[in-house]
Amino acid sequence: MLNTKLQVKQLSKQFGNVHALRDITVDVKEGDMLAVLGESGCGKTTLLRSIAGFEDPDHGEIKIDGEVVFDAKTNVAPDKRKIGYVPQEGMLFPHLTVKQNIAFGLTRKERKSNRVQEMLALVNMQGYENRMPNELSGGQQQRIALARALAPNPKLVLLDEPFSALDAGLRTTLRAEVKRMLKRVNATSIFVTHDQEEALSMADSTMILVEGRNIQVGTPTTIYYYPNCKKIADFVGDAVYLDGHIEGDHFKGSMGHLEINEVPQSEGSEAKVMIRPEQLEISNDEHGIEATVQDTDFFGHDSLIYLDIKGIGRVKTRILGACQYEVGDKVHVKINGKAQVIETTV
Ligand code: ATP
Repeated sequence: MLNTKLQVKQLSKQFGNVHALRDITVDVKEGDMLAVLGESGCGKTTLLRSIAGFEDPDHGEIKIDGEVVFDAKTNVAPDKRKIGYVPQEGMLFPHLTVKQNIAFGLTRKERKSNRVQEMLALVNMQGYENRMPNELSGGQQQRIALARALAPNPKLVLLDEPFSALDAGLRTTLRAEVKRMLKRVNATSIFVTHDQEEALSMADSTMILVEGRNIQVGTPTTIYYYPNCKKIADFVGDAVYLDGHIEGDHFKGSMGHLEINEVPQSEGSEAKVMIRPEQLEISNDEHGIEATVQDTDFFGHDSLIYLDIKGIGRVKTRILGACQYEVGDKVHVKINGKAQVIETTV
């Protein structure tokens, strides 16, 4: 059975009258990655800094490897918490070589061992040991920052928006690489981001923070298909909303009967459900719902099609590759999978 590596219980922090963290409770299992996702100012960095010991919370408890590092009576110093930190823009020591940067947190014995070379191999940067940080690209600097954070074999690795300064292409490649590197050494990690795609693609679980509050935590699939409110549904992707009411264990709206993920207690009541655009399928089935193609956007790997659906209005859907439809085409659509009830009014 996997150990719980980090336990955060009812953590709160206030700056003046700003509630940066409100009653945050979350666990991270050994080898897992937790993404903390939220808009600017929601408390992500405060949470990370509190776990690292750079910020003193007002209340709550933090345990690493079963040991209390913060509570009403305990406050273990940051350098004793055995945490690796990867800040936003690498922040390598500019006057030290790559090798010296990686060796920075190591004991004398570890420095004499093969540790630096192992770390260079892990992040695919062998041969760069004598370079200075300003002789590296942004992506290379981030990989060395990760190597430096992992070198002392920390109990927990914290990454604070580690890819935010990189351009889009490099960002996508590097995040897949970093995920593989962390998994290879079975590191337990938390990374903060305001990019939903990054959170969903990298993490084992994602916690959504809104104004300092944890409003949902779950696997990427749970967060995407079973958001517990409209705010999350909109934050993590495109959503199509349908109005209707609950009938038995189904939803009934202008697109007919739909299966729902979870049946609310309120039979017969009005309800709003959400589906993701890729659940809408354009089909030749005449029994499907009538729609008119309004617009198409081709992106190479896929195309977005904007449809005007009878009784619903404009929605968008996605198909793989090029779009064979033209503006004005009359088509039929059907819905695949289940809908998520977002709101009911009894
Ligand atoms: P961003 O994505 O912009 O980095 P964030 O989600 O990391 O934001 P935090 O930096 O944790 O947010 O800040 C949470 C709230 O606490 C904000 O309203 C911020 O202004 C406030 N705050 C953070 N640090 C301090 C401080 N040292 N003094 C006063 N207020 C602070």
